[in-house]
Amino acid sequence: MEIACLDLEGVLVPEIWIRFAEQTGIEELKATTRDIPDYDELMSMRLSLLEQHGLGIKEIQAVIAEMAPIPGARSFVDWLRENFQVVILSDTFYEFAQPLMRQLGFPTLLCHKLEIDNNGKVTNYKIRQPDPKRCSVKAFHSLNYRVIAAGDSYNDTTMLAEAEAGILFKAPDNVITEFPQFPAVHTYEELKMEFCKASVRDLQP
Ligand SMILES: [Mg+2]
Repeated sequence: MEIACLDLEGVLVPEIWIRFAEQTGIEELKATTRDIPDYDELMSMRLSLLEQHGLGIKEIQAVIAEMAPIPGARSFVDWLRENFQVVILSDTFYEFAQPLMRQLGFPTLLCHKLEIDNNGKVTNYKIRQPDPKRCSVKAFHSLNYRVIAAGDSYNDTTMLAEAEAGILFKAPDNVITEFPQFPAVHTYEELKMEFCKASVRDLQP
């Protein structure tokens, strides 16, 4: 029995914070886990920038409401779900992901939660657990699943390493160079091929 684990941002949907940074013109919000591998450091910086500029959940959700999955993502997810049990493992927050998950047909999503006060200010965030992507793969192993995982960034690499097969998708050059042990592909057609190759079953892309 095989489970496919996918990262969300950068793999199926654009980076939410980058889009928000473009819309608000706050350059420092463009940093992602690709730039700052330490997630707590990254999130603390984001929250203090939001406070500094007086921006809350309403402003962020207004930007997300205008976003769509990467072209081809929905049909890739549909193909994957016909062939695997699929779980999205993401470092985003449920408060952000909902409108985008609707456009992907609501696959299962394991991610984090925001704390928001009555005025809509983002006061804190709740990480589900430390190293959540790797822990999820370990949990699936304990349920006797074989795991094939794909992601694009530093926060995916422990998940890729823990899985029976890990694939880099649309990863930047620095991540590809640092993690040569994972195959790196850039189109959904190539990604389907990698899942077929990594599967113990005889699948057709
Ligand atoms: Mg990503």
